[in-house]
Amino acid sequence: MAGVSDLDTPWYLHAVLPRSAANGPGIRRVIWSQGCALSCPGCFNPETHPTAGAGLVRTVGDVVGETLADATRIEGVTLTGGEPLEQPVAVAAFCAELRAHSGLSVIVLTGFTRREIEQDPARSAAVADADLVIAGRYNRQLPLARGLRGSSNKEYWARTDRYTAEDLAAVPELEITIADDATVTFTGMHAPGGEF
Ligand code: SF4
Repeated sequence: MAGVSDLDTPWYLHAVLPRSAANGPGIRRVIWSQGCALSCPGCFNPETHPTAGAGLVRTVGDVVGETLADATRIEGVTLTGGEPLEQPVAVAAFCAELRAHSGLSVIVLTGFTRREIEQDPARSAAVADADLVIAGRYNRQLPLARGLRGSSNKEYWARTDRYTAEDLAAVPELEITIADDATVTFTGMHAPGGEF
């Protein structure tokens, strides 16, 4: 379980979508991190790359509280970006809190490879309580909207037996959400602007 100081950790976010059906199995909360230095050619979300002075700044505790308040209406959370593992302390604390206090699943979409994660203690700790990591750089030469991968080189790394490749293959590739204020949001790997 995360300590009080971990819950106070600042977390730089690009956006939060409370409910989505196109970002993993079931209805999921989607949290886009702000900040990514991996520079994949053809990245669809360059606005998520800067960290300083961009996006929202929240504490882990605030994001945990909002997520748990909605826990009966969602299956889990998908962390994407930007690059979630550039803020490993925040991600580790968030995942640990969800594991300790709910049955919510966590999927992490990252540009780091499994090897890069395993070689780095902080990144390894960040995914210790995740159910599934989808790992590796986006490769625009190998586009693949199906299965939440974005490009076919990206690797499924199951940390628990909660999800199978078949579960992921059934995820819709595109979702259009119209908010109460008429704001239209496109998400999913086939969205205009893409997930990554
Ligand atoms: S595709 Fe993902 S990992 Fe690659 S530059 Fe874009 S946000 Fe970063």
